[in-house]
Amino acid sequence: MHDILVIGAGIAGLTVALKAAEKGKRVLLLTKGAKPDGSTNYAQGGIAAVTSPEDSFESHIADTLEAGDGLCKKRQVEILTKNAPNAIEQLIKWGVNFTTASDDAGSFDLHLEGGHSFRRILHTADLTGKEIMRALLVKLKQHSQEIDFIERSTVLDLLIQKSRCIGAVAAEQNAKKARAIYAKTVVLATGGAGRLWLHSTNPPDACGEGISIAYRAGAALQDLEFMQFHPTSLYAPQLKKTFLISEAVRGFGGILKNHKGEEFMNDVHPLRSLAPRDIVARAILSEMQRTGKDYMYLDITHRKAKDIKTHFPNIYAKCLECKIDITKDWIPVVPAAHYMCGGVLVDSYSRTNIKGLYACGEISATGVHGANRLASNSLLESVVFALRACEDMKKNCLNPDFQLSTLNSQLSTLRDVSKLKKKVQTIMWEHCGIVRSMEGLKIGLEKLMKLEKVADFEFRNFLESAKLVMECALKRKESRGLQCLTDYPEKNPRCLKHYTIKKGPE
Ligand SMILES: Cc1cc2nc3c(=O)[nH]c(=O)nc-3n(C[C@H](O)[C@H](O)[C@H](O)COP(=O)(O)OP(=O)(O)OC[C@H]3O[C@@H](n4cnc5c(N)ncnc54)[C@H](O)[C@@H]3O)c2cc1C
Repeated sequence: MHDILVIGAGIAGLTVALKAAEKGKRVLLLTKGAKPDGSTNYAQGGIAAVTSPEDSFESHIADTLEAGDGLCKKRQVEILTKNAPNAIEQLIKWGVNFTTASDDAGSFDLHLEGGHSFRRILHTADLTGKEIMRALLVKLKQHSQEIDFIERSTVLDLLIQKSRCIGAVAAEQNAKKARAIYAKTVVLATGGAGRLWLHSTNPPDACGEGISIAYRAGAALQDLEFMQFHPTSLYAPQLKKTFLISEAVRGFGGILKNHKGEEFMNDVHPLRSLAPRDIVARAILSEMQRTGKDYMYLDITHRKAKDIKTHFPNIYAKCLECKIDITKDWIPVVPAAHYMCGGVLVDSYSRTNIKGLYACGEISATGVHGANRLASNSLLESVVFALRACEDMKKNCLNPDFQLSTLNSQLSTLRDVSKLKKKVQTIMWEHCGIVRSMEGLKIGLEKLMKLEKVADFEFRNFLESAKLVMECALKRKESRGLQCLTDYPEKNPRCLKHYTIKKGPE
């Protein structure tokens, strides 16, 4: 019996585990893959926080609300932005090294990203997530007395007794049986759902399993229709994994061009190539359709080669692997599913509607992103709200008044579900993609229903999460933020609310 079971070892899960361990709690940390396997490790651009004297909380709040297109929960946004400097301080205390400005003693080298009015993005070159994971995993080792860490263990379900979460059911890789794990408090930190779509910037384990796991346990879900598609993933069919060309490249002066070199964003938005992500993603898609091309270009060649290599060493090296020298060549880019704004509904202390169950990081719906996320607010959200969950647990440490029982359930598995997953991903891409229609969503949902009969424990969660996203998208009959419907192209004031999905009584 542990005090806290943390499911997922990205920035959110690790923050909870480390903070709880510092308070002397016994923690069990589970992760589906081998560390570091989450999206955190992929984050390039950085983490937003007001740290310069010219900047202000008011400005960070205003930019976040603007991106959220009327649907951000303002109180949560205030909590996010005002706690940002503390979150940064905590990361630095845990050993994260952010890039500092060369001309100034100790101040951060701040990047500008789309939708931000000031330079406020702290980063570690273009490998911010890697550096965060490196530092937190070093810290994790130092807490081996308090934290038990198990890799390759997939959580399939939560254990609920008398309306309270008392643990989870997990299966180790290649196991034929699942086992029950009990804890006084459970934290769901399973990350995003980008891999439900055919093209995604996310790592393989980001398939939104937390959505269906929480739903079956009775947790409320919110805002799942708002999937952010990153406009600029590298178009390189020879690569097995999608590679992201960070927003910071556009912040650094990158210009979007079509195959003739025309700057097609000029007629789309006053901020041109630096317009918000959803607008850029749609514009690229529409230009691809208009010109019949598979990709568009991002051009940064007008900046000094030395500066490009210093700011984007990772992007430079990856593109060079694909025979693209970004100091001389335009970068071929396409949009890809990137970030899930919605998820498991939580309050300002990351509490779900189920006693003993918290949700942190990308799986949670804190309401800070509204209908669209402002760049670099998600690493921040993960840390701020994970720390708040820990604060709350101190007050709310639950006593184990539940019955323990052993569980030895046989797992039904298929040898290879990759073809089935691809079917789901294709349906999601075609019917629940960047531009949607009610008719398309209905057809997509019907297609998903037909796949339902397959008995495989992991595929069941994959499919159910996809269906829940589709159901949420069908509820919102307007175009707002990331939900873009051809049959409802305008915003509708009557839809200025959050749609929640929750399992009813059986
Ligand atoms: C390419 C890329 C670039 C990005 N760049 C930025 C950026 O610059 N700035 C920014 O703010 N955000 C960025 N983001 C978003 C940000 O990285 C994520 O929102 C954030 O890292 C999520 O952290 P997390 O801890 O919630 O999840 P993750 O880091 O994804 O970790 C999830 C963990 O849960 C585990 N897990 C999943 N399912 C199960 C299961 N069933 N059982 C057990 N374990 C499970 C996984 O194995 C993993 O350990 C980027 C995302 C991507 C993909």
